[in-house]
Amino acid sequence: MKVVVLFGAPGAGKGTQAKRIEERTGLKHLSTGEMLRAEVEAGSEIGKQIAGTLAQGSLVPDDMIINLIEGCITGRKCPQCHGVDSCRKGFILDGFPRTIRQAEALESLLAVQGGAVDSVILLEVDENILAERIRTRVLESGDSRRADDSVETLKNRLRIYHKQTEPILPFYEARDMVVRVDGMKPIDDVTEELNDIITEKPRAPRAASCAC
Ligand code: ADP
Repeated sequence: MKVVVLFGAPGAGKGTQAKRIEERTGLKHLSTGEMLRAEVEAGSEIGKQIAGTLAQGSLVPDDMIINLIEGCITGRKCPQCHGVDSCRKGFILDGFPRTIRQAEALESLLAVQGGAVDSVILLEVDENILAERIRTRVLESGDSRRADDSVETLKNRLRIYHKQTEPILPFYEARDMVVRVDGMKPIDDVTEELNDIITEKPRAPRAASCAC
């Protein structure tokens, strides 16, 4: 079973790329954001508790999200497999882990199954451009109140990413698991690069840099 963690700031393109990699490799795309949004849409108990947190862009409690992921990893109940054991080949985690506590829980959950995280791929992006993308979308939508909310939410998500999620990187770097990918490249190039890393195809040697 292969386990890949797709890591990066909100808006870095994790969801888009994870879907493409799922199609190419058969590894199941597990998005905790999608699982939580589905709970809200279904109006479940969990959904009612977390709707406000999601709207603000803050994190839901660790125990809640760990419990959801545990259901997937153990095959007990995976909201994204719909009862079919399609995670068996492995999965791409998008949006999890987001705190050190979640990273530690993931390690323990996988160890019980005799597995471990294979690689953590960091999609690196220019955050000024992320904010600009949202601002443009806002201006085009013509709803200034909603626009402000969206930009504010992105700022909050980025703040939380730097404060709570980025500190996980040293945890994985210490285990020599982090691979960095330039998320500002064209979307197809990013997919190719991710696919090569995940399927362990050797990359073409980088052009030697000029020292003059
Ligand atoms: P993004 O667009 O930032 O990549 P996601 O779709 O991954 O966002 O997640 C949407 C929201 O769901 C987050 O802002 C957060 O409120 C909640 N969420 C998702 N994954 C987690 C997690 N692992 N821990 C806590 N909250 C989470």
